[in-house]
Amino acid sequence: MNKQLIKNKLLAERQRLMNERFDLSTTTDDLADSLDLAKSDSERSFSANLKARNIEALVAVGKALSYVDTSAFGQCLSCEEEIDFARLEKNPTSIFCTECQEAAERVKSKFARHKNTGVLGE
Ligand SMILES: [Zn+2]
Repeated sequence: MNKQLIKNKLLAERQRLMNERFDLSTTTDDLADSLDLAKSDSERSFSANLKARNIEALVAVGKALSYVDTSAFGQCLSCEEEIDFARLEKNPTSIFCTECQEAAERVKSKFARHKNTGVLGE
């Protein structure tokens, strides 16, 4: 397992996300100027959404970076099987093997569907 390679990828990804974050704030300001502060709610929530996703990604990268130097790195956090290196290379923030990740996604989408039936109707 080439940890250094994964670590470099994570560091590069963190840099990219930080830059993106900077871009997001300038884009929002530009948008506000050009629209003379008459931004619609949908545009506002679109950029808020982007920011939330960006922060989420940054947190995931930070977590993976703190994990990469431990001996547990490369092991699935759930079943402790070794995570496929190709998978880690493609997605360095993976902390679960494919199987456990899919199981987690299933639970997540179930939860999301449940949430969508809520009164707020998001
Ligand atoms: Zn697993």
